[in-house]
Amino acid sequence: METTASNQAAETSFDAEAVRAEFPALTPGPGERGCAFLDNAATTQKPRAVLDALERAYVESYGAIGRGVYRWSAEATQHYEQARARVARFLGGAADEVVFVRGTTEAINLVAASWGGSRLRPGDEILVSGLEHHSNLVPWQLAAEATGARLAVAPIDERGEIELGEIERRLAAGKVRLVAVAHVSNALGTVVPVAEIATLAHAAGARLLVDGAQSVPHLPVDVAALGCDFFAFSGHKVYGPSGIGALWARRELLEAMPPWQGGGGMIREVGFERTTFADPPQRFEAGTPAGPEARALATALDWLERLGREAVAAHEAALLELARQRLAEVPGVRLVGSARRRASVVSFVLDGAHAHDVGTVLDAAGVAVRVGHHCAQPVMARFGVPATVRASFAAYSTAAEVEALARAVLRARALLVR
Ligand code: PMP
Repeated sequence: METTASNQAAETSFDAEAVRAEFPALTPGPGERGCAFLDNAATTQKPRAVLDALERAYVESYGAIGRGVYRWSAEATQHYEQARARVARFLGGAADEVVFVRGTTEAINLVAASWGGSRLRPGDEILVSGLEHHSNLVPWQLAAEATGARLAVAPIDERGEIELGEIERRLAAGKVRLVAVAHVSNALGTVVPVAEIATLAHAAGARLLVDGAQSVPHLPVDVAALGCDFFAFSGHKVYGPSGIGALWARRELLEAMPPWQGGGGMIREVGFERTTFADPPQRFEAGTPAGPEARALATALDWLERLGREAVAAHEAALLELARQRLAEVPGVRLVGSARRRASVVSFVLDGAHAHDVGTVLDAAGVAVRVGHHCAQPVMARFGVPATVRASFAAYSTAAEVEALARAVLRARALLVR
């Protein structure tokens, strides 16, 4: 018998319904209609374990991190540093190479301001790709403006893949100091071969920053195997709380980087004439840290690893293929992006209907998707569309949600396309 994507989704031993039951937001109350939450590339819902960890952190041992001698403060500090070690283990790095930040955006701004601001010279190039989220573009434009460096772009092809030949060609000119690419595209789901790009970049004497916002929730990640120099991700996209994320960077790079924000917690000694700074990672964590959020992020990573990152990836891959198949069956639907390796995300347009109108009809049918440019306007320009409808999957997504999506798109077509 031919194996369809639907069969594959059904056959996997992964129990998405059991996973789902751990998410209060996804469990409708009596008489309530459930929501097919398919906007997981934007943010994820939180399992009970993470909500409990957050509450425990605020109730059982809440105090200022690194500042107090009293018990709550000491315990909060210990949890915070344990969370740092947890993030390091999750990424395959060392604890003193992990800087807590608010999220991917802040991590990239940190590198652009500190590493970029101190290392880039007029005429240097920062190489990005045509796939990038605005968070991995605008900070580099600002750094270029501040230093006299310039932005170079490796374009994407009609599948939505980065042209590696273009990366090689740009690197060959010898001006690129840093390559900054997404591991997974939030707009198209393309998985980028970052290990290959790391080899190319290093051979040309350039550093590699990986925007891991969309890979950490969906793929096993090991910074040593990837060979990158900087790696950024956001807690809220990986079942953790908002307002916390991490930058991993090679120790020798962090040690040579100047502070980017000044304040409490990042100094060794302060005088009016002269201030000396703490070692990394504290040098880059000015101000009161988000202790409970870091602790709950560690719980989210524990939770995801207990499920199994490979198992989650396989489950999501089956759903993604089912979704691509079902959507392609709807007359007038055009899938945007057909990369050979993809994760979690399907983007599409419905001919004759605006993406925002499609999103509204889907919402009325209880299907939550993202519509718009997904903070990746250059990707939209490459495909000649102002916006797409984007569905994105998580560990708790189900084949029934995919079928609800396809039905709702058919309904949108009936209502919107004349
Ligand atoms: N990069 C990518 C690829 C993303 O998808 C996002 C979030 N949409 C970001 C960066 C920014 O993440 P945050 O808003 O959590 O800082």
